[in-house]
Amino acid sequence: MRDAHGREINYMRLSVTDRCSLRCRYCMPAAGVPLAAHADILRYEELLRVARAAVSLGIDRFKVTGGEPLVRRGIADFVRALRALPGVRQVTLTTNGLRLPAMLDELVDARLDAVNISLDTRDNAQYQAITRSAHAADEVLHAVRLCADRLPTKVNAVLLPETADQRIPLARLAEEMPVDVRFIERMPLGVTQIAYIGANEPAHMEVIRCLRAVWPDLHPVDERRGNGPARYFAAAGLRGRIGLIQAVSHAFCADCNRVRLTSTGRLKPCLCYDDGVDLRPLLRGGADDATLREAMRAAILRKPAAHCFAQQEAVTEHKSMNQIGG
Ligand code: SAM
Ligand code: SF4
Repeated sequence: MRDAHGREINYMRLSVTDRCSLRCRYCMPAAGVPLAAHADILRYEELLRVARAAVSLGIDRFKVTGGEPLVRRGIADFVRALRALPGVRQVTLTTNGLRLPAMLDELVDARLDAVNISLDTRDNAQYQAITRSAHAADEVLHAVRLCADRLPTKVNAVLLPETADQRIPLARLAEEMPVDVRFIERMPLGVTQIAYIGANEPAHMEVIRCLRAVWPDLHPVDERRGNGPARYFAAAGLRGRIGLIQAVSHAFCADCNRVRLTSTGRLKPCLCYDDGVDLRPLLRGGADDATLREAMRAAILRKPAAHCFAQQEAVTEHKSMNQIGG
């Protein structure tokens, strides 16, 4: 369907959990955040009902996210059921990659279409510092290699001041295997809003300039790869593309095609505002499909024209990314 600003909304990010095996510094506080009660997290049947209503509104692509979606039991069966819904054209997943090697067969079998793997550094010690965990970047790299052989794969790296020397090593993944590597501007949400804002953000063209020292022919390409707002660059020596996601500095709101469902069932039209419609009371209160659909339509029609990350005081969303779904 079209929203009030004429944008075609065809993509939904479905958060299946707020739990996560990591505590990435820009996403969650060290102690974690108060987790939703299990009873408040939507059951898979409820998520599928929302997805069916979404399809009837013209949303036919879904991204399964979290928290860490692969920590939720039964996730591959959920992907299978979601992918099999009539009208669904694409189901993709975003993950920290740690459980991916163990689950890849099941997910491929469930007809998952593509995977995004988050990795901000190839340096093991730095990975531990950023994720506040004992895991190693090598575990994620192993997952990326396995996944790249089986499914379209993108690596997502949030740009952090301390990982400036990791741009070339991360971009080399696109040389070593057919994966896209995307550098994402950190968004001022949750912990980032409090602890990180004000730090010097690396400018995106600086990333491209840095990569051109190795791949001088790196050039923009006019391609849409997936459902996201990345701008892509190609070079003869790279098997995959380099992507830039400038969520803050280059507002792509005019082309925004997405809405988000939190794991507790709040349909959010925009990442930056604490606005949305709570679908859980409808799902559990006996509302019929038409009522559910109309509530979703109303939320989509409330989608604002643009985010407000550039004016911190206007941001009304104070939850962490793991609670929203990234
Ligand atoms: N756990 C999964 C993962 O890490 O891919 C899925 C959920 S995570 C919230 C989704 C994406 O949001 C990740 O790529 C993560 O790096 C990104 N993210 C989290 N906090 C962010 C922030 N403040 N700014 C930009 N991206 C952020
Ligand atoms: Fe977990 Fe993903 Fe947030 Fe990292 S970015 S803490 S992996 S939800």
